[in-house]
Amino acid sequence: MTLDNDDLKRMASQVRRDIVRMVYECQSGHPGGSLGCTDYLVALYFNIMKHDPSFNMDGIGEDLFFLSNGHISPVFYSVLARSGYFDKSELKTFRKLNSRLQGHPTTHEGLPGVRVASGSLGQGMSVAIGAALAKKLNNDDRLVFTLHGDGELQEGQNWEAAMFAPFNKVDNLICAIDVNGQQIDGPTDKVLGLLDLHQKFSAFGWEVMHMDGNEMDEVLRVIELAKTKTGQGKPIVILMKTEMGKGVDFMEGSHKWHGVAPNKEQLDAALAQLEETYGDY
Ligand SMILES: [Mg+2]
Repeated sequence: MTLDNDDLKRMASQVRRDIVRMVYECQSGHPGGSLGCTDYLVALYFNIMKHDPSFNMDGIGEDLFFLSNGHISPVFYSVLARSGYFDKSELKTFRKLNSRLQGHPTTHEGLPGVRVASGSLGQGMSVAIGAALAKKLNNDDRLVFTLHGDGELQEGQNWEAAMFAPFNKVDNLICAIDVNGQQIDGPTDKVLGLLDLHQKFSAFGWEVMHMDGNEMDEVLRVIELAKTKTGQGKPIVILMKTEMGKGVDFMEGSHKWHGVAPNKEQLDAALAQLEETYGDY
């Protein structure tokens, strides 16, 4: 399914409804980063990537996506379901015992669309580099996309990966950093400041791009531009500015909704701001 700009925005509204409903129903989970990254994931799965929801782990001939900040599983599961990987009714099992939709994605449950466990932060870039190198070995010209939190960059493994990829000319890789300026304990610049990420990635040898991750038109334009920069010897990183909690006014712009479930009154207030477009699960 490929959607145009207007339908992508309508899908993003539906996915945001799924996120708040899923987290409300189990009174657990991470709505803030999920809401902030909705536009990016909807753009990837409904427009940008060539992918097959019948799903096989190798994904040869397909674009691949790796979610590194696995705690934003609500948006990932919703987008996978709505793009055909499994029935959307399964979203109601989120975080329940024996569900395939665990709080943090793992491969153990066999949920179609999940290629790596990502509860422990900081590992996704390394995995994606391995997958990108495998594509080169297989003469597979499709691309590898990723998403990482900004707070997650405090994990040292990221910088080992960031050093490895340009040195080894992993130029079929497009990493996105969710620069929302927030993490679980507060603003990133209060917890452990990231300073100038453009300069840092550039110094490591990456092609660095920027986009507003909550403007669908810009998301499409910048990712398409990023694709034109692949195959030129450098990995690409997109510093994606988003607002944590985007789309629900009382959740926006604060770390307080990083990992907190809404109560019934808050759920109703959130749903009143998010149009039901493709039908609730
Ligand atoms: Mg963050």
